Amino acid sequence: MHYYSTNNKSIKVSFREAVLKGLSNDGGLFMPVSVPSIKRSFIESIENKSFQEIALEIAKGFIHNEIKDSDLEKIISDSINFDAPVVRLNDNHFILELFHGPTLAFKDFGARFMARTFSYFNRNNDKELIILVATSGDTGSAVANGFYLAEGIKVVILYPSGKISDIQEKQLTTLDKNITALEIAGTFDDCQKLVKSAFVDKDINERLNLSSANSINIARLIPQSFYYLNAFKQVKKFGKKIIFSIPSGNFGNLTAGLFAKEMGLKVERFIAAVNSNKVFTEYLVTGNLEPKPSIRTLSNAMDVGNPSNFSRIVDLYKNDLESIKKSIYAKSFDDDQTISAIKEVYEKFNYVIDPHGAVGYLASKDFIEKYGEDNLIITLETAHPSKFVDIVKSVLGIEIDIPERLKECLKKEKQSIRLSDKFSEVKNFLLSMN
Ligand SMILES: *Cc1c(COP(=O)(O)O)cnc(C)c1O
Repeated sequence: MHYYSTNNKSIKVSFREAVLKGLSNDGGLFMPVSVPSIKRSFIESIENKSFQEIALEIAKGFIHNEIKDSDLEKIISDSINFDAPVVRLNDNHFILELFHGPTLAFKDFGARFMARTFSYFNRNNDKELIILVATSGDTGSAVANGFYLAEGIKVVILYPSGKISDIQEKQLTTLDKNITALEIAGTFDDCQKLVKSAFVDKDINERLNLSSANSINIARLIPQSFYYLNAFKQVKKFGKKIIFSIPSGNFGNLTAGLFAKEMGLKVERFIAAVNSNKVFTEYLVTGNLEPKPSIRTLSNAMDVGNPSNFSRIVDLYKNDLESIKKSIYAKSFDDDQTISAIKEVYEKFNYVIDPHGAVGYLASKDFIEKYGEDNLIITLETAHPSKFVDIVKSVLGIEIDIPERLKECLKKEKQSIRLSDKFSEVKNFLLSMN
């Protein structure tokens, strides 16, 4: 399969190149020349397929023969090794739980698959690959965990000292082995600057094989389409029209849903559920996307003022606002509404939802009120509530169950290397890895 740049369709690269580069040289995002289709017969008999069989079928379509079937099977069985169950709230509203991976958020699907794809493409290179990332919290832990023990790859994560949550810090700093956490005396922006400087530094690039595991990498998007089909499998028996409500920030998750639809999954509508960062809802009204500085909210993984996957959505719909509107409904909710929703979901359904899922729930409810109850709505729960234990606990006034894997991680000793925000210190550290 070839991939083109959203900035220039005549630039075409292989899947391998799209993965290793992340971003096209012209700054565009990579899109498949054609979204593969899944055979009707496969979808009709989907209840007989395992999650991994579904994943393999989709991945093959996106990758073709660039990874041998047997190797791809191994990549999938190593990365998609936890479930994504659909649970019932009532007869027409379900929750798709995407938090059963190691870092308790849906980003595990993308990060784990991307890491193993990187390892595969780097397998004949005797130079170790060093993934360098700056994180403000969540992405870093998913990436670090994704690459944990990946062959031929080391990960160096820069995070701002004292500016991420305790849980996030533990998730970054307790892995050891091929993961190193650099605790920088500075802000997230400083961390990002240091990473950028490293990528253009001559000495570093001569001696090391550096790469970024960018959030816009196509290898992160593809595995996110797996669970849309796997969710359909679980609710197919009800025979209703299906709607997915997706708590959105950079719109990667939603774009993966659009891919699933293009592949042949029947989806009546997607709902883009956003917090007070609502440039996309405004776009659907005005036809213009006007990036804004991000606003801090309780659903902070969705605090995005310029969604990076927007260009993919526009590209997929050939810049036709009307067809985008037909596919996607969008609605924004503020923090007060988010808090009420966390309460409501607990009181009505005895279900503990996290602030991101709560925004998704609100959008689903709004949609049901507007368009009736004939459909089956699936709200994506993108993180486990224990990741946001302070908020959820204070809203509900109950103890929140902490999954065993998080307890284990919290017990471990933090290991970080403290550096100032001077580039020379980071540079010396990187060169010492060689
Ligand atoms: C990243 C993230 C989101 C937003 O996903 P996008 O693909 O960026 O739209 C939502 N919820 C949680 C918990 C996240 O970590």
